[in-house]
Amino acid sequence: MNYSKSITAFKEAQELIPGGVNSPVRAFKSVQADPLFIAKAKGANVWDIDGNKYIDFVSSWGPLILGHANPAIVEAVQKAAELGTSYGAPTLIETEMAKLITEMMPSVDKVRMVNSGTEATMSALRLARGYTKRDLVVKFAGCYHGHADAFLIKAGSGAITLGLPDSPGVTKASAQNTLTAEYNNLESVKELFDARGEEIAAVILEPVAGNMGCVLPDVEFLKGVRAITEQYGALLIFDEVITGFRLSAGGAQKRFGIMPDLTTLGKIIGGGLPVGAYGGRKEIMDLLAPNGPVYQAGTLSGNPLAMAAGSVMLSTLNNNPSIYEELERKGAKVEAGLKAALESNNIPGVINRIGSMMTMFFTEEKEVKSFDQAMKSNAPRYAQFFKKSLEAGIYLGPSQYECFFVCDAHTDADLDYMLEAADSAMKSL
Ligand code: PMP
Repeated sequence: MNYSKSITAFKEAQELIPGGVNSPVRAFKSVQADPLFIAKAKGANVWDIDGNKYIDFVSSWGPLILGHANPAIVEAVQKAAELGTSYGAPTLIETEMAKLITEMMPSVDKVRMVNSGTEATMSALRLARGYTKRDLVVKFAGCYHGHADAFLIKAGSGAITLGLPDSPGVTKASAQNTLTAEYNNLESVKELFDARGEEIAAVILEPVAGNMGCVLPDVEFLKGVRAITEQYGALLIFDEVITGFRLSAGGAQKRFGIMPDLTTLGKIIGGGLPVGAYGGRKEIMDLLAPNGPVYQAGTLSGNPLAMAAGSVMLSTLNNNPSIYEELERKGAKVEAGLKAALESNNIPGVINRIGSMMTMFFTEEKEVKSFDQAMKSNAPRYAQFFKKSLEAGIYLGPSQYECFFVCDAHTDADLDYMLEAADSAMKSL
């Protein structure tokens, strides 16, 4: 493949945009490659500005369950744009979206729209603190909840250690209010609650982790976290920015049958437009301004273009359960094919999958169930695999610690081709 236009474009962008990108992972640093500049996308394909065509498994980092430029979503956005792009005033379609979300997500009685996943988690945490009148939040090492200060905290080594900032600019004061536990380790949560349970406002987690690679929860772990938060009067926040409406029409919570107090949602509910949301039990949500004292606002929140795209997305998913059956079938096919390729090429690895999200860890470990285990993966080997796959026209997540996403637009021929390319990439490792 010739990437010369992308390489030139990246050089130019670096002069004007920090790192040449508007979100760090796009720079392909962890796979030591130059990023692709994208020209267009349709269905399961993206094209870069050099005219190379790829089968896409990044899916804009998850939202495009129906594929790129889905005709019904494009039409809805075009129609909405003709009626004006923003009013900063209530519209009927916001209530329609709220109806869809509350009907589909079992734990959500009321929902507030925001503009990104980061805003959703940041606002949900403020609300949890306002509701419980407590300050501390528990998060899990390796879970990502956007870039608000409270969530950019490195894992503490001991269970009760105070958080240390993961990034310059996050103050010690913010970091001290975030405690870190270990995913799938209920004991690590119990230790924090034993020590400081009365001060903990909320536990936040990805019900399936997608940001240390795909790491599945033990259902007993999730149930245990639900029980301990209830016991101490802390709120349980499920960050379903990736899993909401991907793992089932009611998200991970419906799939596992566990009800959080608050849920955060993102990109999927905008069908690829900038959007986020948070919702939960009525008595908690009613603390938000203008009903209650917890402040949160947004000029572009509930934006008509995002709502138009999102309502098509959600109603399509709600009305077509067969989409989830197909996502499961296709996900299983990719998993089985990659497993066979690892085995036949004698490459040690673990594939974690649920439905249409998965990660292939190049690792000697027998299983990957925690951040520490994920970190033992052979990231340089993944980088080689990524580059070989890209050469073959397969666009995978540009890091060992991201997911592959299968979408409704992937055909069996796409998946067969992807698996052949994976097999020959592995042969060259
Ligand atoms: N939560 C989770 C689970 C995420 O995966 C992400 C982003 N990938 C976010 C929150 C933040 O969302 P955004 O990038 O839209 O701010």
